[in-house]
Amino acid sequence: MMYELENKNSSVDKEYLIGLTQKYGTPLYVYDSCKIKKQYIKMKNAFSGIKNLIINYACKANTNLNILKFLQKLGSGLDTVSIQEVELGLKAGFHPKKIIFTPNCVSIQEIKKAVDFGVRINLDNLSILEKFGEFYPDYAVGIRINPHIMAGGNSKISVGHVDSKFGISYYQIPHIKRILKNTGLKIEGFHMHTGSDISNIKSFLEGAKILFQTAMDFPNLDYIDFGSGFKVPYKKNDIKTDLYSLSFSITRKFEEFCKNYGNQITLIFEPGKFIVSESGYFLVSVNVIKHTTSTVFAGVDSGFNHLIRPMFYDAYHCIENISNPNGHFHFYTVVGYICESDTFGLNRKVQEIREGDILCIKNAGAYCFSMSSNYNSRYRPSEVMIFNGKDFLIRKRETMQDLLRNIIEIL
Ligand SMILES: *Cc1c(COP(=O)(O)O)cnc(C)c1O
Repeated sequence: MMYELENKNSSVDKEYLIGLTQKYGTPLYVYDSCKIKKQYIKMKNAFSGIKNLIINYACKANTNLNILKFLQKLGSGLDTVSIQEVELGLKAGFHPKKIIFTPNCVSIQEIKKAVDFGVRINLDNLSILEKFGEFYPDYAVGIRINPHIMAGGNSKISVGHVDSKFGISYYQIPHIKRILKNTGLKIEGFHMHTGSDISNIKSFLEGAKILFQTAMDFPNLDYIDFGSGFKVPYKKNDIKTDLYSLSFSITRKFEEFCKNYGNQITLIFEPGKFIVSESGYFLVSVNVIKHTTSTVFAGVDSGFNHLIRPMFYDAYHCIENISNPNGHFHFYTVVGYICESDTFGLNRKVQEIREGDILCIKNAGAYCFSMSSNYNSRYRPSEVMIFNGKDFLIRKRETMQDLLRNIIEIL
C-alpha cells in the first residue's frame, strides 16, 4: 500500500528557528514531526513490494515520549535495547507484541522483566538462551545472529564483525539447535544488525543471504529482522543508503525465500537514524569569538555534554549561522564550553559569525539528546517538537534541582 506524502513543505526555516530560540532560549533541540513522518513513509513506500513488512523504530536514537507516541500513531513498531526503553514504549502506547527487546549483555533478571511485560525478545547469547529456555520453554524468542560482516562507517559502530560482542555466530547454529532440543524452546525469528551508517548495500545482501540460509532450517518462524544501518546524508552530496536498489534486491530475494520456505513470513527493519536524524536541529548561541595565532574559534553555549557525536565518532554535522544567512563565508572552528577538547566542527566555512549569533547544527534528531549528559554540571537542554504547524515544548530545560535530585548529603 502506498502512502501519500504530505505535500505541505515543512515550516522550518531560519527565521522560524530564530523565533524558537527567542521563545525557549538556547541551547535548544527542535524536532520537525513532518520530517519524521516523511522518512517513515519513505521507508514504507520503498519496501511496499513486501507483503508483510514491519518497521520498528529503534528508539535509542531519540526516546522523547512524544516522538515515540508520534511513531506509534503512524503505525510503527519499536526496537528497544534496555528494559527502560521497553517501559517507555509501553508508556507511549505500543502494544507489547509491537515491541522487540534486543538486549546485549544484560542479566537474565532484566530479560525476565521483558517476559512479564509480554514483549518480543531477541537473544544474542548462548548462555542466556539456555537459561531462558529452562525458565520459559513456551515463550518463543528471536535470535540475533552474528553474520561476521564488517560494515558501518566507523569501527565503534560496526557491530556484526567476527570479534563483535553482538549476536550468536552463525557457526554456532548447531549449538543453538542443541539448546532448543534440550529445553523445548521455540525460535520465532532471526535477526541481524551489522552497524550504523552502511552505505554499501552489498553488506546488507551478504547478511541477508546468511539469515535466509539459517532460517531454512527452522520451521514455524514468524519473522526475519534485518536490523538497520540506513545511512542518511550529513552534508551536501553525502552518500546515503540507496533504499530503492536495496529494496529491489531484498524484495526479490525475500519472495524467493518465502516460496522455498513454504510460508509468507514477516520482514522487519529497525531504522533509528533514518527516521529521526534529519528532523532535528540543535540551536546554540555564540558566546565568544576568539582569534588565536592560527585559528578563529566560535565558542558556543553547549558542548559534547549535549551533542557528543563529533567528539565520539568524528561525526560531521553541518553548521549554519542562521543569524547571518547572507554573511560572507569565513573559516571557523566551532567549539563548545566544556573544559576539555570539545569541537563541533573543525575549520568550517560558515557565514560570518558574530558574538550573540545563533548557530544551527543539523542532523540533530538521532543520537544527540539521547546521548547527552550533565558533564561539567551543565543542564541538559530543552526539546521542542513542531507538530501540526505549531511548536510544543516537549522537555523542560533542567535546573539545579535536577542536578541535586538524587544526592544524599552526608556532611
Ligand atoms: C541501534 C540499533 C538500531 C538502529 O540503528 P540506526 O543506525 O540508528 O538505524 C537497530 N537495531 C538495533 C538492534 C540497534 O541496536
